[in-house]
Amino acid sequence: MNTNVATMKGKTADVEKDASMRKQKEMMAAHYDRLTAVPQTGEKVCSTFVPGNLNELIGCFDLLNNLPEVNAIQNGLRRTSGQYVLEAEKIGHSEDVCTYVKSDIGMIAKGNIAPNGKPFPNPDVLLLSYTGCFTFMKWFELLREQYQCETIMLHTPYMGDGKITPNMIQYMVKQLREEVIPKLERVSGVKFDIDRLRERLARSAQAEENLVHVLQSARRRPSPIDAYFGGIYYIGPIFGAFRGTEDAIQYYRFLREEIDARVAAGTGPITPEGDMGPEKYRLVVEGPPNYTNFRQFWKMFYDEGAVVVASSYTKVGGVYDLGFRHDPQRPLETLAEYCLGVYTNRSLPMRIEMLSNYIEEYGADGLLINSIKSCNSFSAGQLLMMREIEKRTGKPAAFIESDLVDPRYFSAANIKNRLESYFQMVEQRRAGARSAA
Ligand code: SF4
Repeated sequence: MNTNVATMKGKTADVEKDASMRKQKEMMAAHYDRLTAVPQTGEKVCSTFVPGNLNELIGCFDLLNNLPEVNAIQNGLRRTSGQYVLEAEKIGHSEDVCTYVKSDIGMIAKGNIAPNGKPFPNPDVLLLSYTGCFTFMKWFELLREQYQCETIMLHTPYMGDGKITPNMIQYMVKQLREEVIPKLERVSGVKFDIDRLRERLARSAQAEENLVHVLQSARRRPSPIDAYFGGIYYIGPIFGAFRGTEDAIQYYRFLREEIDARVAAGTGPITPEGDMGPEKYRLVVEGPPNYTNFRQFWKMFYDEGAVVVASSYTKVGGVYDLGFRHDPQRPLETLAEYCLGVYTNRSLPMRIEMLSNYIEEYGADGLLINSIKSCNSFSAGQLLMMREIEKRTGKPAAFIESDLVDPRYFSAANIKNRLESYFQMVEQRRAGARSAA
């Protein structure tokens, strides 16, 4: 179901949304209300990051999670991040610093107001599970200075050799047992109960199964989903505050049914202007999106009939489509394996292999890289990845540049030009293949 009756492109003022997108928005809004009600409810808050988040464990201690990069995204979508980034630069943070960080620091400096207009509570604990991006560590050092609260770090070894060894898992389980759990017990005043953790992990696995079903529906033609722009809505609950909860199970069941209905009807994704129309190009996208001009950015794709069938960004909070599920039988080991496997902790050769496989598996026309100016973790090596993936798959690749939440680095004309040239290149390849055949 859509919010509008009229679905012709360019004819509606309102934004079209799937029922699942509206449901997702309600869930996020409810979470923000719960967070900002902490002064009244007395609940305790744990700040943590999306990649490698230990949501099931946090829930065992009745802690509410607050995710700074999700807050930065919300500020980007609401177009408030620009002023926060400038504020952080005024305080002394360089232009090159990740703009999620600057949006967060600027927001704190300007009153720390949540998307619902109420002040965020101070965190009781900062839990950093370090998964590949050094910025996370520096970011929490700043927050520790700000809040002077308990700080916990779970170190995840980088997957430099492309595999998870038993030693890596033991090393992480030891940290969970000896550092993370005792400190969470102390902050929360709640005793750790491993059976409670098992229950949450079992719930996570159910939701993960349905998310994978949805993501893999993009193998069909036409793809019923956009796995980048639409995908960002789909990952919201499971990458955010809801993994391990009954709400997440219900949401992903609901989403699966919605996508299955679209498959049965043979229709493509819903865009903000209604049905996408005929599918002309199928792309795999590497890199995060731009949030300050999210709709304008998406429009450049659907206006051309381009759908994203797989993306690396929808794997930052877990690479479930490669088979990983949280396993209640091995509660601490599974948390370690989850952290080890997230996209930000994967080496360049692993990323190249994953994206090359996506191009084959999803029948894509090629690869598009959105290189983010201030995200070193994603941007490092992207040109090399592009060349290698082109070589392996024989499919054309293109490179565009923007930023996460800094509106100064979104140049619509440049991106549109590059995309148009790229689609022409795809057409030429197709024409070449036809004449060769
Ligand atoms: S992965 Fe990129 S966007 Fe995320 S914190 Fe690191 S530098 Fe910032």
